[in-house]
Amino acid sequence: MASPSIPNHYPIELTAPDISAYAKGNTGTPYVMSFNADNNKSGPHIMISAVVHGNELCGAIALDWMLKNNFRPLKGKLSLVFANVAAFLEFNPDDPYASRYVDQDFNRVWATELLDSDKSSVELERARELRPLLDTVDLLFDIHSMQSASPAMLLSGSLPKGRDFAKIIEIPELVVADKGHAEGIRMRDYNDFANSASNKQSLLIECGQHWEAASSELAIQTSLKLLLSQGVIDHSFMEKLKQDTPKPQKFIEVTEAITIQTDKFSFTETFEGGECIAKKGTIIGHDDETPIITPYDNCVLIMPTRRTYKGQTAVRLGKYIV
Ligand SMILES: [Zn+2]
Repeated sequence: MASPSIPNHYPIELTAPDISAYAKGNTGTPYVMSFNADNNKSGPHIMISAVVHGNELCGAIALDWMLKNNFRPLKGKLSLVFANVAAFLEFNPDDPYASRYVDQDFNRVWATELLDSDKSSVELERARELRPLLDTVDLLFDIHSMQSASPAMLLSGSLPKGRDFAKIIEIPELVVADKGHAEGIRMRDYNDFANSASNKQSLLIECGQHWEAASSELAIQTSLKLLLSQGVIDHSFMEKLKQDTPKPQKFIEVTEAITIQTDKFSFTETFEGGECIAKKGTIIGHDDETPIITPYDNCVLIMPTRRTYKGQTAVRLGKYIV
């Protein structure tokens, strides 16, 4: 069950970096690099992950940039993780959607029961390989990009602590609080990341359309902001980047995810995401005979999919909150 090919309408502005130099890693796990502060000064264990989806290049570019610039934490521990490498290594600009995953979506396998089960797939095996490391992470920053040219956004999860974490990063402008997908648990929602009683934090960033050049700049910029906010790097790294004054963040709460129920799902038009539908009751799509209707005024469409397959999330619906 490889990821299906779908037609691509977007230019491929990015090049997948050669990550073969990281194949051995330095932890015993392939493509995982961990660095402790020189003086063992205490601090959080921060993990920045890329290519959870194999065709999302910006995170791989950001990690490669950090590794080439010899990032070392001033305190605590920093782990840089290329996640679904098997899929990433299959990336082909002529069929760029096909390398999202090998057997199944890596970002839906993070239920502990599934990880503990005897089921097997390329992605489950890799998740099991990364799990002991993830269990020690205090702050997870998971870099992604999107099928459509939606505005970039932070996905802060459903708990208030995720929103607080997003405020620290300051960019991009949109922060979306959501519960994830019916199809399975995301890495950002694994275990204590989704536990309000735990101090562990996670954020998923969607840096823009998969292959737009600006997505890799945002991936680097936000990673640096995270590290700077925790005192893990000094300001000299930020001087390497051009920065605009951030706009005040806008917060959206996802109220529901529309999961596709039939093999005949279609939207009424090509939505890119971020559209705000003014009127309650507007039909935005059909799942066979069933109309998909906006449940309230000013309903924001979050990441409408082009993969209109049964069981997938078609779109998430949200409202602006203060
Ligand atoms: Zn992704």
